[in-house]
Amino acid sequence: MDTKLTMDKIVNLCKSRGFVFPGSDIYGGFANTWDFGPVGVELKNNIKKAWWKRFVQESPNSYGVDAAILMNPTVWDASGHTKSFADPKMDCKVCKQRFRADNLIEDYSKGTVVPDQMTNEEMQAYIAEHKVKCPKCGSYDWTPIRQFKLMFETSRGTVEGEKDVVYLRPETAQGEYVNFLNVQRTARAKVPFGIAQIGKSFRNEITPGNFLFRTIEFEQMEHQLFCKPDQALAEYAEYKDKAWKFATDIGLKPEHLRFHDHDKLAHYARAACDIQYLFPIGWQELNGIHHRGDYDLSRHQEYSGKSLLYLDPITNEKYLPNVVEYSIGADRLTLALLCEAYDEEALEGGDTRVVLHLNPYIAPYKVAIMPLQKSLSEKAKEVYNNLAKYFMADYDEAGSIGKRYRRQDEIGTPYCVTIDFDTLEDNTVTIRDRDTMKQERIAISELKDYILDKIVF
Ligand code: ATP
Repeated sequence: MDTKLTMDKIVNLCKSRGFVFPGSDIYGGFANTWDFGPVGVELKNNIKKAWWKRFVQESPNSYGVDAAILMNPTVWDASGHTKSFADPKMDCKVCKQRFRADNLIEDYSKGTVVPDQMTNEEMQAYIAEHKVKCPKCGSYDWTPIRQFKLMFETSRGTVEGEKDVVYLRPETAQGEYVNFLNVQRTARAKVPFGIAQIGKSFRNEITPGNFLFRTIEFEQMEHQLFCKPDQALAEYAEYKDKAWKFATDIGLKPEHLRFHDHDKLAHYARAACDIQYLFPIGWQELNGIHHRGDYDLSRHQEYSGKSLLYLDPITNEKYLPNVVEYSIGADRLTLALLCEAYDEEALEGGDTRVVLHLNPYIAPYKVAIMPLQKSLSEKAKEVYNNLAKYFMADYDEAGSIGKRYRRQDEIGTPYCVTIDFDTLEDNTVTIRDRDTMKQERIAISELKDYILDKIVF
């Protein structure tokens, strides 16, 4: 990672190279929404594929679901979201900007005060005592703290006045809890087993606009492990290791990651921690790992009136399993991986190049095919068409070879293949490695396997 990395550099690269555009761009944008462009969607899809591979495909006791975004509203009463999923907000009366009171305190105290252990009254008293000013306009003129609901509401029903409120889910986890018995029965799963899901979540967040870090619509990758109560702490420790290994295997450097154990736990939680990543905005949560006890299943059992007890086929014991949750945002992880991969390298001759050292498995394109001259395009397209059957390949015949390499470096393409006049004679090509910039000559017939070998996760 470039040591002078700023979020602006990442945002600019993303916009100019087609990773991510501002949401509703031609209308002047729509705050805290972003659209993934042609290379961004490939990158995020590959990240989701890597996560699914690790936590479903290679985990014999884990099963996937894809639950509905709109759920029976009672789900959110059972989960506790309708009652308490809210942020403490204050408005600056002068510039009308809205802030989270806990963020104001955290920033003012430079992290020495932990506001999530404070009540609203205590936070308000702290802000008054220290005359904490508005970060935008510098005034000290606040509204009192108000609880700001984080769930987006919509309604169902067509007759005016007879609409029922429904919510856009603020997390995917509930879709896994409510399907606990469906999955257990149909997969004939034995505890401990996991249910995984990747999907969109929505939160009405007020944010300082740190690009993909916090948005109002985002994708979560969540895995709930259902286990025997007396094994849950050991499973929690194991999931901490698994989450760390996934983060480093996919490309984040261990020195940019750290565990952050929660001092203050939700009343039902037995243990909780985050893995934090060193973003250009500082250390911030990348994912959460939580030992949730039997809170979720017991609440759904109570609110649905359906027994969610698990019958142990060996001991005939009936019990509510405990849940160990691992939850990570796909967009937040994409941002972390872009930050980690970004580099500005000095080249011989005084030039610099921007390069994304992405893990080849997640790189948007695995290879770019480049004819040295347009007259070689027929042969180059033949090579391209053959490789595109196996993985994402790009084709580029515009500009000098040097410029074409730079473009591919900036989007993290691990290999570039040049077709030249010798290719027509001997069916060999030059293949260039993104990271070392070394080139070698190989036969076209070996190309597919050469690349496939390098893009394993
Ligand atoms: P934070 O403290 O950052 O608000 P959280 O503790 O509310 O996060 P969880 O509810 O545990 O987060 O969500 C799990 C993961 O989902 C987070 O670790 C993060 O990667 C991702 N996530 C949560 N909220 C957002 C958001 N608004 N935008 C993007 N990703 C998010």
